[in-house]
Amino acid sequence: MGKRKIAVIGVGKIAVDQHIPVIEASDDFELAATVSTRGVAHGDLPVFKTPAELYAALPEVALVSICTPPGVRHAYVREALDAGKDVMMEKPPTTTISELDDLIAHAKRLDRVLYQTWHSQFNAAVDRTKAILAQEGVVSARIDWRESVRKWHPGQDWVWEPGGFGVCDPGINALSIFTKVMPFPVFVESAKLTFPANRQTPVDVEIAFKSAQAHKPTLSAGFNWLEESGEIWTIRFTTGAGKDVRLENGGRKLTVDGELVLEHGDAEYGAMYERFADLLEARQSDVDAAPLRLMADVFLLGARENGPEFEW
Ligand code: NAP
Repeated sequence: MGKRKIAVIGVGKIAVDQHIPVIEASDDFELAATVSTRGVAHGDLPVFKTPAELYAALPEVALVSICTPPGVRHAYVREALDAGKDVMMEKPPTTTISELDDLIAHAKRLDRVLYQTWHSQFNAAVDRTKAILAQEGVVSARIDWRESVRKWHPGQDWVWEPGGFGVCDPGINALSIFTKVMPFPVFVESAKLTFPANRQTPVDVEIAFKSAQAHKPTLSAGFNWLEESGEIWTIRFTTGAGKDVRLENGGRKLTVDGELVLEHGDAEYGAMYERFADLLEARQSDVDAAPLRLMADVFLLGARENGPEFEW
């Protein structure tokens, strides 16, 4: 079978850094066009100002990858599904649970493939961690997710607007690993969200989780967006057998009791597009709502504090 034609909608940082190069290197996909409100084209490929223009001009493009901020995703995904397209979505999928539920139902109704990507869910180190925790159980877990907003979202004002998630935009990557590897359901017990006094989304979040487990595991997370020393994307577990299991580098490195078990490079986006190709072949959707549900609970239960103002 030849390569499948795909269009990228929203040509911002992640589209340029990851989606477009990964599609260009893919055996499964061929980049056919971009949709960009600012008119950002890729090479000689056609660029359209709106998805509707793309769908009218190039009906043979059956797939779209939606790389916009989450606030506009529901409308774009609905429009794509209605136009008969199969859809891949960046994370976080939408700004509300009801929008995501609607997209799942709409894709099912129209018999389209809908794929919600989550970072690191395909890393071998994450899979190995899940297997260890399934066998040994968890007595404690601590997530530390710290990075620089100036490095990872330079000048992106949408991250500070309502629905922009703030530091929970990267934080949801941690939750997508956490919800995948944990051997039992976890719930938000309490949270403290610190907002820059001049912004609408948090820059620092501390979460305590609870579970229904009789042994009362200690589970917590901290997200911070002002870390200028480099990225700290770590989840540490103590297992029921007393082992110290650490997932570092955003789920790419696994150590157990200080010994390196697995380490691999950044293959996230390649793996996500391979997964999309498999789903298209099987005509199946894959939307895991658990990370968004948990993050929504952080906002529902969280106490707000004001911190220093933020300027780029
Ligand atoms: P970005 O640089 O701001 O790019 C988003 C693009 O979406 C914009 O450049 C714009 O492209 C388009 N767009 C359409 N409607 C928009 C609107 N109402 N407001 C703003 N942009 C709009 O953001 P990004 O970093 O690529 O993030 C996009 C998505 O990828 C987010 O959901 C984010 O969580 C996720 N993500 C980001 C990173 C990262 O490190 N930055 C990593 C992984 C995932 P056009 O002008 O071409 O229309």
